[in-house]
Amino acid sequence: MGYHQAIIIGAGPAGLAAALRLHQQTDIKCTVYELRSEPTTLGGAVGIQPNGLRLLSRLGVYEKVLARGFGGSNITLHSLQGRTIGSLDHVGWAREQIGFGYVRIKRTDLVDVLLESVNEAGIDIRFDKRVTQIDDGADGVTVTFKDGSTDTADMLLGCDGIHSFIRRSWVDPAQTSEYSGLSGLGSVIADSDLSPETRAQTLGLEVTMTEEGMIAATRCTQSTGDLYWFFTKEVPIPASGDRDGWEVQGKDEVEGFKAPLLKILEKAQGEWGDSLREIISKTSVVKFYPIHRLPPGGTYSKGRCILVGDAAHAMSPHAGQGVSMALEDVFLLTRLLKDHFRPLDQVRERYDEIRRPRINEIFDMAADNGKSRKRTGPWGLWLKESVASIALNMSWALGVERLGFKQKHLVYDIDEVEL
Ligand SMILES: Cc1cc2nc3c(=O)[nH]c(=O)nc-3n(C[C@H](O)[C@H](O)[C@H](O)COP(=O)(O)OP(=O)(O)OC[C@H]3O[C@@H](n4cnc5c(N)ncnc54)[C@H](O)[C@@H]3O)c2cc1C
Repeated sequence: MGYHQAIIIGAGPAGLAAALRLHQQTDIKCTVYELRSEPTTLGGAVGIQPNGLRLLSRLGVYEKVLARGFGGSNITLHSLQGRTIGSLDHVGWAREQIGFGYVRIKRTDLVDVLLESVNEAGIDIRFDKRVTQIDDGADGVTVTFKDGSTDTADMLLGCDGIHSFIRRSWVDPAQTSEYSGLSGLGSVIADSDLSPETRAQTLGLEVTMTEEGMIAATRCTQSTGDLYWFFTKEVPIPASGDRDGWEVQGKDEVEGFKAPLLKILEKAQGEWGDSLREIISKTSVVKFYPIHRLPPGGTYSKGRCILVGDAAHAMSPHAGQGVSMALEDVFLLTRLLKDHFRPLDQVRERYDEIRRPRINEIFDMAADNGKSRKRTGPWGLWLKESVASIALNMSWALGVERLGFKQKHLVYDIDEVEL
């Protein structure tokens, strides 16, 4: 028994981490196939939390991630009236428990760091490869690419993201992504374009709630000093709710982003209000992203194919756990596959049994966090801010933060789970 070769589809965080971990821990030979002609150029920055950072450390890339990203973990909530509503270190307790905190890093930097290690390990990775067919049989799984080439292996890991071809065409065609009701606008801008006053104020994640949605700004690089901001708001599904409808909506949002945002921030007072307007004014290009997710349920694997990361369980980003969930998948799968005597259907079964409750818990948390981004009126905003203020002050006064409230999921260790 045992598996000798794996095909990995997708060179995002899940695919690259899977290739690396399997290479480090097993004798399975991996080939990674990515449809883009070069590593992803998708913008934005992701926050990686303690449970994910610990796994990056075991992968041997934590120091590099830390060196490129920004480690400030304080969340400060500002009101439009210029008041600081409250502040908390959202991973403080978890850091004390396991020694890992928080890093905000540009997506391109994270992929770069993983790719560097994949290349150093001599793992075969091929770009410009779009899968168009899968034939899963008793003797192996064969994939066919758009250029007509094929490859066959003992197993296939579908790490091809939320719109996964592997899921749609073979593992679970019935499972399709749904729109969450929220969309985002965001950009990365050079710190050096901003005034010293604004730079001095972005110390952690600076969050401001408005009637239209939530705006947040944070640094995302250590050395060169880039700032990432995003605005999350409710956006109804366009009248023609298909891909074309979203493209038109996206074009409008991107082309005309400045005026509506500056209008929302018109009444923002205090130094932070000035900084927010400056950040928006000095941004020239934004990206618009309707937030989609996969509803809980669905199948994670079939035959010789196993879905990993967003391909299996994309969730809305409001729990900041997408990358960490992909890493947990990878670490569990590697442990299961290390056991040469475990048949693949048992690997698949345990993978599902162990991952599903954890995924469902984090999915619900992300959905719940998303509620604070919804549109509201002046009283609704007042109520949201008051509740947040009470929660933050109580948390500080009662020492709830020190008891690990809302942080228990950050110290979960997938390597400690019984197989
Ligand atoms: C706006 C936003 C903000 C987010 N913020 C955070 C955050 O703060 N923290 C966090 O942890 N997570 C965050 N996430 C989630 C995180 O980005 C994802 O969970 C993570 O990227 C999943 O990695 P993945 O490798 O599974 O998928 P992806 O990153 O989507 O990578 C999939 C790869 O597969 C390739 N591919 C697709 N189809 C094919 C094909 N047919 N053939 C070959 N290759 C293919 C793609 O080109 C891509 O490179 C956020 C997501 C969004 C949308």
